[in-house]
Amino acid sequence: MRTETVPLSGPSPGTTRTLTRHHWGQEGARPKIYLQGGLHADEMPGPLALYHLMQLLDLAEAEGRIVGHVVVVPLANPIGLSEWLLHKPVGRRDLEGAHNFNRGYPDLAALAGDGLEGQLGADPAANVATIRAAFGKALAGAKIETEVDELRIRLMEATHDADIVLDLHCDHRAVMHFYASTARPEITDLLGRCTGAELALIEDSSGGNAFDEAHTAPWRALRDRFGDKVPQPCFSTTLEYRGQLDVSDAVAAEDAGGLMTFLVELGALTGEADPAHGPAEEMPLAGAVEFMAPIGGIVTWVTDPGDRVAEGQLLGHVTDPAARRREDLLAPTTGILFRQELWTTCLKGQGLCHVAGHESRRQGDLLSN
Ligand SMILES: [Zn+2]
Repeated sequence: MRTETVPLSGPSPGTTRTLTRHHWGQEGARPKIYLQGGLHADEMPGPLALYHLMQLLDLAEAEGRIVGHVVVVPLANPIGLSEWLLHKPVGRRDLEGAHNFNRGYPDLAALAGDGLEGQLGADPAANVATIRAAFGKALAGAKIETEVDELRIRLMEATHDADIVLDLHCDHRAVMHFYASTARPEITDLLGRCTGAELALIEDSSGGNAFDEAHTAPWRALRDRFGDKVPQPCFSTTLEYRGQLDVSDAVAAEDAGGLMTFLVELGALTGEADPAHGPAEEMPLAGAVEFMAPIGGIVTWVTDPGDRVAEGQLLGHVTDPAARRREDLLAPTTGILFRQELWTTCLKGQGLCHVAGHESRRQGDLLSN
């Protein structure tokens, strides 16, 4: 194991932060698998699972089982981790500009595409290497204005050439689910079987260039531009490890075991692996529909994340006790109620839950802010 400490330059005199990356296996070994947690810095199930995973990786290393290159960044957002407001972690957005830490990653196809004109030949493997080198060069020359820009670039310096990128998040109250593109369906299937995720939300373009999409969309864009001499070698996902309060060593240790199975199945480690679950149910991200609060008030539920619901079914209530008024929360589509808001109060018009269905109902930007 090798630990790398990456300095961020700091937003003002006298303030600096660091990003810590841990590596197992040799630089350049394949597959290269990258895992990070805490990009939304108030989401701790992923970082705790990675703490347990790293102990398992140390054991595997001692047993000589590391074949590929595994990179773990357990806390990917030192900026967000330090941002507390009124005794609560903020985590999701930077306090300077209110930007979501998981949006606005560099568009590698736009940055590197022109330089690849005339550089690609008939050998797909050689083209992958050429494109990855071009991505690295583009990142090295990318414009950095703010500390958050710098964080985005430093994260992608370690990921632009990875075969597999897992960005571990969590939701408010939720069952385990993940977001993936259509690029590597066999890996989508494998990830579900290794982790036990109940739902895979599939979309090639979600809008906003989130961290996961910043690794798959460029390959698709370059394929559109240069044709099928450009393969799609990268699988990237946002894996939602249930809800914000689902933080326990027992669950994290089990999740780390699932990730080890995934690493073995991918060939990054040698050893025996037996995925313990069935594949996640795949649904289009455009079929995940949100229900908005009809009034402000107190939120109560008669359902739980993971429940199968039918469109129009009663999910819970919003109550305004001052006005002695109560409104129903109804399923906006038929499918899996996979997430609910954590808070027990709401504002009028606030999103309260999502139901994922097989029927695409939405267009445009498909992610919440
Ligand atoms: Zn998140």
